[in-house]
Amino acid sequence: MRRRTRAQLAAHAAEIQRRLAAEYPDAHCELTYRNPFELAVATILSAQCTDKRVNAVTPDLFARWPDAEALAAAPLEEIESVIRSTGFFRNKARSLQGLARQLVAEHGGEVPRTMEALTVLPGIGRKTANVVLGNAFGINDGIVVDTHVARLARRFGLTRATAPVPIERALLPLFPRESWTQLSHLMIWHGRRTCDARKPRCTQCVLADICPSYAP
Ligand code: SF4
Repeated sequence: MRRRTRAQLAAHAAEIQRRLAAEYPDAHCELTYRNPFELAVATILSAQCTDKRVNAVTPDLFARWPDAEALAAAPLEEIESVIRSTGFFRNKARSLQGLARQLVAEHGGEVPRTMEALTVLPGIGRKTANVVLGNAFGINDGIVVDTHVARLARRFGLTRATAPVPIERALLPLFPRESWTQLSHLMIWHGRRTCDARKPRCTQCVLADICPSYAP
């Protein structure tokens, strides 16, 4: 990766964002949800799983247990059986039950609206908290760094970091705060559709002429 000045890096980041926004004007969260509770649950289920699979499971889950009160009272084995196909279902079921119980005990069954309150809840780390804040509440507190955002940030030459928190710290000053949530969607959509982990389609990429990782 060639070294860039801070100003060059900011200009590079802005051009990437501009092109991705033009390429994916409809980029959005691909998990299906109707409220903050459902988005928190769906995001927990999406770990190591496709959004499509999560979306296949959540209608049944939310029909049985539509809110934190109902899920808090659900037997663990029943939660496990409903979410089994999303993988890591025992851990996820424990997280969901723990989350629901803590929401009931400490937040009147509602999902809190701050990073501090969210990240102490079972199953909710910084990534999930950013998803919930940005998409359910419209609060740009940070940038969601999932596997796609992490890979693309490095390929774009925006950071050399490999862990999510340092990657997020590198990205935040490069993009306008009001665009942080949408930026995550743009990068995730580009990662899913073009900049594949194993076979990036560089020759069809809108960033081909400015990407330091271009490899035809
Ligand atoms: S040029 Fe290739 S590596 Fe760079 S963003 Fe596009 S697909 Fe990814």
